Amino acid sequence: MDFKGKVAVVTGGGNGIGRAACLGFARHGAKVVVVDRDAGGAEAVAAEIGRKDAIACIADVTRAADVQAYVKAALDAFGSIDCFHNNAGIEGRIAATAEYEEAVFDAVMGVNVKGVFLGLRHVLPVMVRQGRGAVVNTASIAGLVGTPGMPAYVASKHAVIGLTKVAAGELGPLGIRVNAVCPGPIATRMIEDIARQVSPNNPEGVEERYTAGIPLRRYGTAEEVANVVLFLCSDLAGNVTGAQYVVDGGRTAAPAGVS
Ligand code: NAD
Repeated sequence: MDFKGKVAVVTGGGNGIGRAACLGFARHGAKVVVVDRDAGGAEAVAAEIGRKDAIACIADVTRAADVQAYVKAALDAFGSIDCFHNNAGIEGRIAATAEYEEAVFDAVMGVNVKGVFLGLRHVLPVMVRQGRGAVVNTASIAGLVGTPGMPAYVASKHAVIGLTKVAAGELGPLGIRVNAVCPGPIATRMIEDIARQVSPNNPEGVEERYTAGIPLRRYGTAEEVANVVLFLCSDLAGNVTGAQYVVDGGRTAAPAGVS
């Protein structure tokens, strides 16, 4: 993969999967725009890459003005947006649908759906003007199957896959590709938070239970997801658009068996 001369914008780039994508894009030659509401995380990733090759943009992806500001900052600093990893997301609460708080539902939909929509809304016109570009939205296997206890998250990630398909259809004729990556459980802050919510007294036990249902018997790493994001943004994936790439150690293909 070669991203020399390309510019990658990554939301949620200050931590976890987004951080790994930022570092991966940079390693393969791209200039990187690290977007996050976590100023410390975004600045640290930009500093790790080097100030000549990366900038940090402190933005809340749910606010249109912040989204317009990171798009402008990317163009001012580096002149184009060739790869867009639309990745920022939150998990919300773990609670049954019958008990789920409305405010938490709104918050999850705000970041995971509206944030992804606003990213597309303001980055795609840039790609259309350029006549090139590739987008990867971070969905989840929760965008493909239902996970009891995560109604807002599951609804939001199904919506991300819907937005991906619509944008792929709209922009395919222009050669602009839009795909989704669907991680299973990945070792980042998010899965630790989920484990603490599910089992405050024994979060480690949650990992043991979850991984027992994964053929590879372990959580994935942020880098393993980032590798697929980079592939989907690269010319190697030239005929791939509107797809959902599962990175889950086999969990959705072969859930816990009978033996
Ligand atoms: P993470 O918490 O390590 O990273 C998420 C990042 O998004 C953080 O840096 C956070 O500050 C940022 N963010 C959250 N809300 C934001 C907002 N409103 N504006 C700007 N930035 C915001 O978690 P992660 O695991 O790296 O998650 C990245 C993406 O991967 C998310 O969309 C998540 O839903 C998805 N995902 C994660 C897993 C997993 O098991 N970790 C599985 C499937 C999908």
